[in-house]
Amino acid sequence: MTAKFDLIVIGGGSGGIAAARRASEYGARVLLAEYGPLGGTCVNVGCVPKKVMWTTSQINETLDLAGSYGFDIERRGFDWSLIKQSRDVYVRRLNGIYGRNLDHSGVTLVRGKASFRSAKRIGVNGDEYLGDHILIAVGGRPSVPDIPGASLGITSDGFFELEKQPENILIIGAGYIATEFAGLLHGLGSKVTMLLRKDRLLRTFDHDIHQKVMEDMRASGIGLLTDVDLQSLTDENHTLGYRDSGGAGKDGYDCIIWAVGRHPNLAGLNLGAAGVETDRRGFVPVDDFQNTPVPGIYAVGDVTPRAQLTPVAIAAGRRLSDRLFNNQPDSRLDYENIPTVIFSHPPVGTVGLSEADALERYGESEIRIYRNTFVDMRFAIGEHKPRTLVKLVVQGRNEKVVGCHVAGHAADEMIQGFAVAMKMGATKEDFDRTVAIHPTAAEELVTLR
Ligand code: FAD
Ligand code: NDP
Repeated sequence: MTAKFDLIVIGGGSGGIAAARRASEYGARVLLAEYGPLGGTCVNVGCVPKKVMWTTSQINETLDLAGSYGFDIERRGFDWSLIKQSRDVYVRRLNGIYGRNLDHSGVTLVRGKASFRSAKRIGVNGDEYLGDHILIAVGGRPSVPDIPGASLGITSDGFFELEKQPENILIIGAGYIATEFAGLLHGLGSKVTMLLRKDRLLRTFDHDIHQKVMEDMRASGIGLLTDVDLQSLTDENHTLGYRDSGGAGKDGYDCIIWAVGRHPNLAGLNLGAAGVETDRRGFVPVDDFQNTPVPGIYAVGDVTPRAQLTPVAIAAGRRLSDRLFNNQPDSRLDYENIPTVIFSHPPVGTVGLSEADALERYGESEIRIYRNTFVDMRFAIGEHKPRTLVKLVVQGRNEKVVGCHVAGHAADEMIQGFAVAMKMGATKEDFDRTVAIHPTAAEELVTLR
């Protein structure tokens, strides 16, 4: 017998769970299929365990400062396996909470790999389900280039399985994950080298941001190998290494991580049976309302060619259910001004346009830049004097803020509020009229001249 639902959601990660619960709370009959642990990438091998490790590394940095603040502390080491164990327990607790939340919301959960049988039918473990609406929320998987020795490297998934802290690690990539892992591992005492195929990290971010992050990394002792035309990974004399196209390279690493982007997780989904074709990069194409070209089939999150961020997947999923099951025909996620944080050391918070993107969009005569660097008071005491960067990109005669960028201590907690202001269309004058909170780093954004 084929069970029938108003909405079938494939994938129990950030986007799928959000859409399923919202729809069910509106009274829709909802089935959610998931073959892995609930919560998807973010909870199991993404944001959550990453943030735990970032915090661990931040705590070590705070301990470094403790002496200059008058504490006489003895440090006898760091137990990687202990934090891994505690982290795993926390993640399992979250898996349970996600399961109970689905249950409370009245979502039917089926455990197994779903595949399309037609545009309205899916199969899971040999059973068939019929859905008026079907949402594809299958997320992504880490990419690994096809070069000799590639399998000697692990991915971010493998990183979260490491039982032992790597001593000498090579991280290949130039984006979020490479930058975050490099910072947190270095902060915990590993020797870290980053291998970039181009000349800079975080290329898509504002140039002041990537320059600052690279300067800070170099100053802290992280090795940056730039413009490397990587040809192979090697395993010689019991150490890992790499070779470039000229035959040069380095050895001596005990771990290599691939962090070169992610691709949609469509294996086994049998999308063809639904009549959905992927775009040339392999993503499921959607319009502004998350509709695929096939009526009744939708996609949200990392499987679509949009920002690969948890709150984006969640918001897109919820807006879709608002539209389909709560009579809100215009409900959709606005993909402009999405704030984001790179949990580097120090962190980066950014929302809106980079200086280069603003110049391209509006032209030079329309854009003005306000920028400052300063030493956060946290570092007023002691020898280490890292500088924080704050930058506003404003547009037009009334100086509408179209870009806000911060790199430095507490940038991660600072940017959310400024994102609200920008979403409301704040101008530089609005920032200036706001009374500063002193002494904070955030006040520098409302006192820029
Ligand atoms: P996912 O969360 O990946 O969920 C997809 C689910 O679908 C998975 O559980 C999968 O098992 C399931 N699935 C797949 N195929 C099938 C099938 N055929 N049948 C049944 N189930 C299926 N984002 C942030 O906003 N902040 C961060 O700090 C952050 N840190 C990150 C750190 C790392 C290391 C990584 C890898 C990602 C990070 N992200 C972060 C990105 C974030 O995790 C993703 O954007 C988010 O998880 C995407 O949600 P999703 O619902 O699209 O997919
Ligand atoms: P990213 O897209 O951030 O970065 C990957 C980078 O790797 C590319 O930009 C590219 O940089 C470089 N690259 C690509 N191919 C190769 C190659 N063959 N050899 C060497 N370098 C290569 O991907 P990540 O894997 O870091 O993260 C995936 C996504 O997950 C992110 O885009 C982000 O949306 C999300 N994420 C979010 C986080 C957060 O919110 N804090 C944290 C972690 C992940 P270039 O072209 O400059 O060489």
